[in-house]
Amino acid sequence: MSFLKALGIALGLGLAGGAAAEDRAPPAPKLVVAVAVDQFSADLFAQHRRHFSGGFARLAGGAVFPSGYQSHASTETCPGHSTILTGARPARTGIIANMWVDPSAAREDKNIYCVEDETVPGTTSARYEVSFAHLKVPTLGDRLKALSPASRVVSVSGKDRSAVMMAGRGADEIWWWKGTQFMSLAGRPVPSAVAGANRAAQDRLAKARPPSRLPDACRPFDVAVPIDGDLSVGRGRLAHAAGDRVRYVATPEADAAVLDLAAQFVKDMKLGRGPATDVLALGLSATDYVGHYYGTAGAEMCIHLLALDGLLGRFFTALDRGGIDYVVALTADHGGHDVPERNRMHGVAEAQRTDGALAASRVGPLLAAELGLKGPVLYGDVAGYGDFWIDPALDAAQRESVLARAVAFYGAAPQVAAVLTRAQVLAAEVPRTPPDTWTLAERVRASFDPARSGDFVVLLKPRVTPIPSSARPTIATHGSPWDYDRRVPILFWRRGLSGFEQPLAVETVDIVPTLAAMIGLPLPEDAVDGRCLFGC
Ligand code: ZN
Repeated sequence: MSFLKALGIALGLGLAGGAAAEDRAPPAPKLVVAVAVDQFSADLFAQHRRHFSGGFARLAGGAVFPSGYQSHASTETCPGHSTILTGARPARTGIIANMWVDPSAAREDKNIYCVEDETVPGTTSARYEVSFAHLKVPTLGDRLKALSPASRVVSVSGKDRSAVMMAGRGADEIWWWKGTQFMSLAGRPVPSAVAGANRAAQDRLAKARPPSRLPDACRPFDVAVPIDGDLSVGRGRLAHAAGDRVRYVATPEADAAVLDLAAQFVKDMKLGRGPATDVLALGLSATDYVGHYYGTAGAEMCIHLLALDGLLGRFFTALDRGGIDYVVALTADHGGHDVPERNRMHGVAEAQRTDGALAASRVGPLLAAELGLKGPVLYGDVAGYGDFWIDPALDAAQRESVLARAVAFYGAAPQVAAVLTRAQVLAAEVPRTPPDTWTLAERVRASFDPARSGDFVVLLKPRVTPIPSSARPTIATHGSPWDYDRRVPILFWRRGLSGFEQPLAVETVDIVPTLAAMIGLPLPEDAVDGRCLFGC
């Protein structure tokens, strides 16, 4: 769509609700509901799809892209969420990981959390002040508000990094679950919707959760898988003790709390019933915790997803009752990978765990001893993959030797697929080809920011889980450049939209251009990495 045509729709329809545009496009929806289901992989959607009868089933009757891609290598929550409502890959959003290292940071803690502001005195990456400081691009909500200040933007999530990345700086309300309550940016007043949501969630959390009933559809998943010691997964029912805030977040009730708060905001703020299009961003985080604690292919995940399907159905029905013309775009921030123990039972003999020997804190001292250097030498992920930084206190020649030695060390490690230096990554073009055809260097390039990323990047082999079996409660994870972590469903639904399914690969960065066309929001040339998928 041309800029002028888009502007015409924006002024004529989307934002003023006036006369028909030249192509008789349907009027813009009044509410954009963007849903990120954390760790909801394309594989989970495929495995459970035939049993959905609620919200997921409704969306599966819309425009369905079962092979969407979080196309970049760093398949973590913060980078993934940063793509969904910006239309930009992490290389452009600046959100290269959940946590990165800035060896030159002024404070003692050199780890930088993606939604903190490390320049606030007295903070650390664990005790931080939530901030938009690291997000380098505007969100859909920011762009919409710049054009139509009457538009409202609300973001509610189970995690701060999800709420921040989907909201944008101009959000009217931004709330996330933390510990025992919904929190917001410092100094924000607490609306009655949040006070009520906190009371309800705290009441729920204070009680022990009884085991869920096992739906018939989940019986095939109900198989015990021994992990380590006395830990076994697969037959869980998501029960938890009274006050157990760690297990609470891995239950459908945690997602229900987010949806209930969002529904209250819709009601109180009359979202979708104002003069302009509003944006409601939802981060449903429980699926991710279920995947991390129990793996992706047990009864636990099945029970949770069928419950979430019901909760989403209830949420959409409430919007229907309110007579709101809304469009839903649902996707995930990354995919996921099952526990290696169950993968081995199910035909993947090479599934394995790392033992921690590749961590920067273990390898740094080895290199220091070998090269006669002092100091940490290497900074990087404790799990031994992703970005690594060479101590900037070393001189150029020393840094060269550390880089050469580190590349050789990691390159020879049996669980490592590839080591890419900064120069090798930057030599790769930011790809314009379909994401399922990308090289490893192209995947890394898509989440590489020269100002923040490491001196080299380590990629583990497929089916290697970077967590020892003794870890608790997280025993499974995502974060790899492999398709089980990159592929996510992308589903659009609006009343009256002719449904179709496109099995070819598209990207989550395509969501914003698609929604922008629908609501008549012009996007500046080259402002996004994605493209409009339909109705353009
Ligand atoms: Zn996530």
